[in-house]
Amino acid sequence: MAVPQHRTSKTRKRLRRTHFKLEAPEIQPCPQCGEYRLTHHVCKNCGTYKGRAVIAAR
Ligand SMILES: [Zn+2]
Repeated sequence: MAVPQHRTSKTRKRLRRTHFKLEAPEIQPCPQCGEYRLTHHVCKNCGTYKGRAVIAAR
């Protein structure tokens, strides 16, 4: 089994882990109805995307 030649220092380990972080999802209000929705996604409230009806509105 392959084994690391050198032990990773606390600093190296911590520096690598500085990139492990959670990111908040991109949420913006819908330009049609103002309901918050994920960017680049069809609005669940009014069923539009880029000002065009894509799915039947509820
Ligand atoms: Zn909408």
